[in-house]
Amino acid sequence: MKMITALKGTHDILPEEAYKWQYIEDKIKNTAERYRYGEIRIPAIEYTELFARGVGDTTDVVQKEMYTFLDKGGRSLTLRPEGTAGVVRSFLEHGMFSDALPKKLYYLITCYRNEKPQAGRYREFRQFGVEVFGAEAPSLDAEIISMAMSLLNELGLKNLVLNINSIGCPKCRKAYNDKLREYLRPHYEELCDTCKTRFEKNPLRILDCKSDICKNIGKDAPMLIDNICEECREHFEALKKELEILKIGYVINKSIVRGLDYYTKTVFEITSDSLGAQSTVCGGGRYDGLTEELGGNPVPGIGFAMGLERLIMCMEAEGVFMGAVSVPDIFVASLGENASRFVSGYVKELRDSGIGAERDHMARSLKAQMKYANKIGAKFSIVIGDDEITQGKASLKNMETGESEELSFDEIINKLKK
Ligand code: ATP
Ligand code: MG
Repeated sequence: MKMITALKGTHDILPEEAYKWQYIEDKIKNTAERYRYGEIRIPAIEYTELFARGVGDTTDVVQKEMYTFLDKGGRSLTLRPEGTAGVVRSFLEHGMFSDALPKKLYYLITCYRNEKPQAGRYREFRQFGVEVFGAEAPSLDAEIISMAMSLLNELGLKNLVLNINSIGCPKCRKAYNDKLREYLRPHYEELCDTCKTRFEKNPLRILDCKSDICKNIGKDAPMLIDNICEECREHFEALKKELEILKIGYVINKSIVRGLDYYTKTVFEITSDSLGAQSTVCGGGRYDGLTEELGGNPVPGIGFAMGLERLIMCMEAEGVFMGAVSVPDIFVASLGENASRFVSGYVKELRDSGIGAERDHMARSLKAQMKYANKIGAKFSIVIGDDEITQGKASLKNMETGESEELSFDEIINKLKK
């Protein structure tokens, strides 16, 4: 039979890599704890409508990239392409708007997008994200940016750029959209097919198109941030002040509009000079209109999502510390059948005391057992034969220095526990 392989664009994370993920996830959980976010775990599969309405039907994600299928009951379901829509649904479904606000949530999830796989772009990838509900204050926008930046800094990354922009509110966007359409109208026929459909619905997205022709047309277009209303302008100015208080450097990047259609006011992206074409590690923004779009009461919201594969690529490129593969504290070798049975019990005792212990299960010779102990990187080893069992002690060998000391079985446990 032909070997079955993993799907294109998906990847296995083997133990030799998984320790990096655990290291990063521990840092994330610690950061979330300090910034006081609660973890939320949401389903990987939702009704398609949630994303079509929540992510916005003029985005690439919804128009081209979703894994959508009919289930046996004929319902259209979709594998989540991102986390925000699911978290907003959950927030509304569980009436979290009645909780103490702001409600601060974080998640570690897999996402699914039918994109052309390439470096930093997968069909199944992982995100760390946060969403906060209930507060409009720019101090919150600055706080979540600060959270993302301090996590990245703590992970040792240096070549980061924080890009911020404001895309206004529905009020100022309406006037701006008219102005933008006027600018784009003479070029309508040259736009790509996707952008033709965006022209009426959401012309702003044309400025985010990846096609060179559309990019070129958009080059001299009026920019939204130069056309936002007084309220949005004040919010943006206050955000800048907050970032200054937090000593977070930023650049204003007028061209970021972000993925969601329902973003309002603050949008931001953190890019890294250490990455190639897919240089955005983290993207986020405010979405004050989203809960209403999904059938709830208006509740302001803001969040970000960080691509973890990209984060790892970035850390590798900068050569920063990423944790270490875990090694056994002790390898317990055995000589003979009687000793092997004793080792079964002793290894369990070691493990129950919180010590990482390994033994032979392959009927290896003593020499081969020691070779194996070296290969798996055991820090200490002991050899147990009939004599050791009778005397109740063994020689604990430090595998790195080669030094040994005679200790009772209990003393070994006590020593390794520390
Ligand atoms: P891009 O412009 O790179 O396509 P995006 O705007 O589609 O990004 P978001 O929806 O904002 O991305 O997702 C947040 C983060 O998730 C991105 O900044 C990136 O780090 C990561 N990401 C997005 N798509 C992929 C993918 N296909 N594979 C790996 N990581 C991804
Ligand atoms: Mg994308």
